[in-house]
Amino acid sequence: MSFTLAIVGRPNVGKSTLFNRLVGKRLALVDDQPGVTRDLREGAARIADLKFTVIDTAGLEEATDESLQGRMRALTERAVDMADVCLFMIDARAGVTATDRVFADILRKRADHVILAANKAEGKAGEAGALEAYSLGLGDPLSLSAEHGEGVSELYTMLAPIA
Ligand code: GDP
Ligand code: MG
Repeated sequence: MSFTLAIVGRPNVGKSTLFNRLVGKRLALVDDQPGVTRDLREGAARIADLKFTVIDTAGLEEATDESLQGRMRALTERAVDMADVCLFMIDARAGVTATDRVFADILRKRADHVILAANKAEGKAGEAGALEAYSLGLGDPLSLSAEHGEGVSELYTMLAPIA
């Protein structure tokens, strides 16, 4: 059985970077499927032998400040409802922000299965933020570097039992 992973979180934490890494060049195959909106990008992802669908909550980045909260909530809820498992991404370098806590609340209420990921964790700069992530009450954070591909094998280990 295959599954769908939604990558959610506030703008600029690195969601699309991870999406692109997981999808590689396979996006073109599914880009125009019915039901996929402009704001939710869907792609065929692969980590080694593990194949799944991944959803990126794109479109947030274009929202203006006053529309951002509402759009973030609506888009995130839609992605959560489409997904079997959510990867909730924070920026380990920025630490946990007030906006991250809004997302955490949405996920706690709505998502069955959440993987908390502290991205931008390469080097030492992310250590404090990754520790702070425990305070979100969503379990042990996975340290990731979407840009450098670090943590992807740990993500595999977490996803493999779901497949
Ligand atoms: P999104 O808005 O959540 O989709 O974030 P993006 O994927 O567009 O990334 C936002 C910025 O963070 C870009 O400048 C990325 O290059 C950068 N970024 C993404 N992943 C990492 C990472 O693992 N480490 C560092 N240092 N920067 C990253
Ligand atoms: Mg993006």
